[in-house]
Amino acid sequence: MKILAVNAGSSSMKFQLFEMPEEKVLVSSTFERIGLDKSFYSIKVNDEKTKKEAVLLNHEDAVRLFLKDLLDNKIINDLNEISCVGHRIVHGADKYNKSVLIDDEVISDIEKCIPLAPLHNPAGILGIRAIKEALPKAQNVAIFDTAFHQSMEDVAYLYPVPYEWYTNYGVRRYGFHGTSHQYISNRISSILGTDKFKAIICHLGNGASITAVENGKCVETSMGITPVAGIPMGTRCGDIDPSIVEYVMRTSGKTIDEVMTDLNKKSGLLGVSGVSSDSRDIEEAIASGNTRAFLAHNIYIRKITSFIASYYCILGGADVIAFTAGIGENSIDTRKDIMNALKPLGVVIDEEANKVRSVERLISDKDSKIKCYIIPTNEELMMAREAYELSK
Ligand code: AMP
Repeated sequence: MKILAVNAGSSSMKFQLFEMPEEKVLVSSTFERIGLDKSFYSIKVNDEKTKKEAVLLNHEDAVRLFLKDLLDNKIINDLNEISCVGHRIVHGADKYNKSVLIDDEVISDIEKCIPLAPLHNPAGILGIRAIKEALPKAQNVAIFDTAFHQSMEDVAYLYPVPYEWYTNYGVRRYGFHGTSHQYISNRISSILGTDKFKAIICHLGNGASITAVENGKCVETSMGITPVAGIPMGTRCGDIDPSIVEYVMRTSGKTIDEVMTDLNKKSGLLGVSGVSSDSRDIEEAIASGNTRAFLAHNIYIRKITSFIASYYCILGGADVIAFTAGIGENSIDTRKDIMNALKPLGVVIDEEANKVRSVERLISDKDSKIKCYIIPTNEELMMAREAYELSK
């Protein structure tokens, strides 16, 4: 059975076609600059990647072109072979604690969450509509970034603000990257050979979040009502004193939108270093003696350490700390600095084992009280599994 995983952004669309249940990737493809000039896409079949220019006026163009390439490359002979499509949806608020088959009510609920995810949820709907038009017979499944975190209790998801903000406006912690955290949690369970474990999962990519997981269920997560909260990220600030917003508005004359753009797009590693949001550039700048890049890295490490230490106490210990996503899988120095900062918890790094990128591996010493792993994430596979289960 062929299952398509679709991740629609406001100006991009990513596709992966799987043969299920074998979990074989048949094609992966990314369309970029949709609705802009110089749009292009890449398509990878059998490890061979080709990049092509194309006019992509909207998401329908991307879907049409992708499906045409599938037929032209004889990956499928008929569009009806794609029986189910899994769509990544960023915000499902507290209505969805698992993936669901998409009907009109689900689409309307995703629309209702637009104020909570103004950039992401409209893109998700565009993706669903484009697929429904091109593949009218396929089933569609929504996989929510927020769903995995719905197991949090009120003590974790409520903010200490007037309770009516929660009841009247839905102000609470939702958490994101749920598909990735769920995938890593499942991997940890397989590695340990048990579903009884306590783990702290560090999804460190351009966006980043940390989750405390007990027996496969999310107990705490660092992102909040939106993905700007928690640890510092490539360009996002993470947790800050909320009065900073008002103070900067008053003193600089910036509007609320400008300040929020600064906190979302000009903060984090980029904001502090003034160099880049990309940790590879930060590492290069540190090597050439850039002190602000070093400071940005140190703030990053300190905030991550404090989240992990706090989750260690909340969980009452931890069996595993897992590193995943772009930085977690690839940055040897970031992992090393975090693990060294966690020595008081009994973490002991295996320096040699840590010198790898993008492979699943134990990187803590045999004497470490907590096992630390690199576990590459695979959100698309998780989506395909969810879609496959529901389509059955
Ligand atoms: P993601 O959002 O998961 O795709 O992660 C993207 C981030 O991973 C990039 O912005 C980089 O900061 C980081 N990254 C990717 N490769 C490396 C690498 N080899 N070393 C350090 N950081 C990396």
